[in-house]
Amino acid sequence: MTNSVSAAAPFDHAKADIILRSSNNIDFRVFKLFLSLASPFFETLFDIPQPAEASEDQEVKDGLAVIPVIEDSKTLDALLRFCYPCTLADDPTLDVLQDALDVLEAARKYSLDSIEKKARQAISSPKILEVEPLRCFAIAHRGRLREETLLAAKQTLALPLIPGWFQEIELITAADLLSLLTYHKKCGDAVYALRDDISWITSHYGSNEACTWLLGRYLYTNYNTQSYNNCNCPRASSSKYRLFGIQSLQWWDNFMEETFKELRDKPCKATLLAAAEKTVQSVKALNCQACSQKVTEGMRDLSDLFVKKVEEVVSRIELELNF
Ligand SMILES: [Zn+2]
Repeated sequence: MTNSVSAAAPFDHAKADIILRSSNNIDFRVFKLFLSLASPFFETLFDIPQPAEASEDQEVKDGLAVIPVIEDSKTLDALLRFCYPCTLADDPTLDVLQDALDVLEAARKYSLDSIEKKARQAISSPKILEVEPLRCFAIAHRGRLREETLLAAKQTLALPLIPGWFQEIELITAADLLSLLTYHKKCGDAVYALRDDISWITSHYGSNEACTWLLGRYLYTNYNTQSYNNCNCPRASSSKYRLFGIQSLQWWDNFMEETFKELRDKPCKATLLAAAEKTVQSVKALNCQACSQKVTEGMRDLSDLFVKKVEEVVSRIELELNF
């Protein structure tokens, strides 16, 4: 007799009519009906002889037939939760890639089509994609999941151009990897080219008065007259990122120069948000009242514009991959 442990609720029900035993010896007391409704595989499986007429090799526990399965308790628990009605068990959250893969494999094996679909969705959910985009890319491409592969490829832009080793690298061919790297390189170059003509920034603001925060200008009132004065922050000697013909602030020049350099390697939203945040902090450290007062809000607006622009450019680049 195996030394088994009972699973937690709801898989410990007294009125359950069959026991599924996981590979790590956890007994799940379940209702055949729920599983049979979810998959014809289970319907056939449960057609085995009942305990009363069972053969010697059919283990019986508390009067119920015990069916050993190869899945471990974690995977089995997730699978059963998907099969059970939501009044008895919530759908499990699959936010770790390996868990989603285990459930996907089991769902395919047991012909649980709707669960297979949910596990596939989980693999392309932002939570999993953000953490392991390359593994998702390889798995999705191997599984011929076009949408999921493209999503994962886009997410790999947050990694350096030359990736490190990853578990599923052998699932893809050298040609697939070359396509991915070419895509990444093209995205990086296309985003980098945005620096050559920054009219997308000036046309967003319309006039220099709408973006005084990034020009180092503040409104100065003297009796009844108002005029713009320059703050004391250092100005850049380069005219590369000059807006409305006004000499650039050094911090603005640095932000543009560094951000584009980083975007070339990782052309994605995360790169931009990190660079914007870093600039907000360094501007605040300058202790310039005019700049530090408005930089947080200004950078937030500018990042929105910048992110939109980067995503627009990236969306035009095609990943040349055969499915
Ligand atoms: Zn300033």
